[in-house]
Amino acid sequence: MMHPHVEKILLDEKQINERVKQLGRQITQDYQGESILMVGILKGAMIFLADLVRNIDIPTYFDFMAVSSYGSGTVSSGVVRILKDLDKSIEGKHVIIVEDIVDTGLTLQYLLENMKSRGPATLKVCTLLDKPDRRKVEVPIDYNGFSIPDEFVVGYGLDYNERYRNLPYIAVLKQEIYKG
Ligand code: 5GP
Repeated sequence: MMHPHVEKILLDEKQINERVKQLGRQITQDYQGESILMVGILKGAMIFLADLVRNIDIPTYFDFMAVSSYGSGTVSSGVVRILKDLDKSIEGKHVIIVEDIVDTGLTLQYLLENMKSRGPATLKVCTLLDKPDRRKVEVPIDYNGFSIPDEFVVGYGLDYNERYRNLPYIAVLKQEIYKG
């Protein structure tokens, strides 16, 4: 069932589910014999992280960080502010940053610098979505769910003005929604 504000569904539940399973299997293989710390970036990555960790079959811990990115609009300012920091030290740990989407790359660039300075054993990036057309800075992405065109998307954790995070698919909203 499609929400009445939705123009089109870019990725449906089945596509997301299958890809998340693959990513979980890949991470399980890559970290055999280790334990990992998944750092979810709130709030957008919450649903992705929840599904992803249930497909990982090695000891998995998680922590969360909240950063400000777009405020209520749809354009990145490049200014990143920590709203909630990690609960514990990540020193000596195998850390994977879990993001909802990499757009300009500015948020991830900041997060990588910030986390590197805390001395993890290894640091990798897993994002559900990648919008390569909009990149302003080069950032390494180790695990990418889907590359998507330059369109503002919502659902599966991603919001517009805090709405639509609960949609089970990734979608583009009708143009008129942004005007109201
Ligand atoms: P970046 O710093 O890479 O430009 O932006 C990263 C953050 O911007 C993401 O974590 C996400 O919160 C937000 N963002 C970028 N593109 C989109 C989009 O298409 N939809 C939504 N809902 N958020 C986006």
